[in-house]
Amino acid sequence: MTEKKGRVFSGARPTGRQHLGNYLGAIKNYVALQDDYECIYCIVDLHALTTLETTENLRQNSYEMALDFLAAGIRPEETIIFIQSHVPEVTELHTILSMVTPLGKLTDLPTFKEKARQQPHNVNYGLVGYPVLMTADITLYKANIVPVGIDQAPHLEFAREVVRSFNYRYQTNVLIEPEMKSTELPKVIGIDGVQKMSKSLNNHIELAATPEETTQRVMQMVTDPQRQRRSDPGRPEVCNVFTFHKVFSPADMVAEIDVECRRAGIGCVECKQRMAANLNQHLEPFRQKRAEYARDPNYVWDVLRDGKERASKIAKQTMIEVRQAVGLP
Ligand code: ADP
Repeated sequence: MTEKKGRVFSGARPTGRQHLGNYLGAIKNYVALQDDYECIYCIVDLHALTTLETTENLRQNSYEMALDFLAAGIRPEETIIFIQSHVPEVTELHTILSMVTPLGKLTDLPTFKEKARQQPHNVNYGLVGYPVLMTADITLYKANIVPVGIDQAPHLEFAREVVRSFNYRYQTNVLIEPEMKSTELPKVIGIDGVQKMSKSLNNHIELAATPEETTQRVMQMVTDPQRQRRSDPGRPEVCNVFTFHKVFSPADMVAEIDVECRRAGIGCVECKQRMAANLNQHLEPFRQKRAEYARDPNYVWDVLRDGKERASKIAKQTMIEVRQAVGLP
């Protein structure tokens, strides 16, 4: 085996099937980084508890997420995929890190404020501590690199500060300051053309959707708001459909649409149809692989069990070092 450059960790909440935002913002890097890094990808079910009204779908959602990871190209022979709560050391580290975390920093985070606005009836303690648990996730596995979408940037910066505080407070270098790694498209906009693509906003396109469903969602995409009639010239630079063309269409088509849209040579309907066809073509191997894995659920659960064993070993070792550094008897 070739020497790896370091360790990668990332997590995503098991809120259901993954969408194009997750894929283009994070999973693409999960896959690419496997070549050079030892990778650990976590289905963060404890994090999901901060926002879920009900937990009845947690198990099924975790399974669906593992299917998405595998189908996208995560290689479980090398890479660890596991469920967060299966390795409980993270909760101990979370508690220890919470003692070096100023409360004001947490309540000032824009991500917390946004969540508190979204669920004013349920501003729970876990919601405030979310970034501390995330820091525990990353540092428990001594990750150097964290591939995530741009929405996670404040959390990464926060994690780095907590690591510095911990290492300074206990005069140690046990915890590693992680670096964020984003893709070329760190913020994918939803089909509404305005907000971040997100399942909770229902402006998403699922990776595992059928070609028909995918096309239907693409046809609902909001384009350049100034282009109201077919004869109006468009502005590709503000059109989300064009952003997707740049990712999924061949370069000559992208160049052609760029020109034709500006002189109203192509309408939004045709433009979307062509993008949907390319997107569907791009997703076809993913869908086939996903269907293959779905035929053998036991295999998927075995992957998660094996991931748990491998993750546990690393977690236990880190906690020995952390307890020693802190001076816990
Ligand atoms: P979490 O709450 O743990 O971020 P999500 O399922 O919302 O869970 O996101 C999983 C990953 O996908 C994260 O790295 C997140 O930054 C990324 N992501 C989610 N939505 C988008 C988006 N619209 N654009 C870019 N990246 C995204």
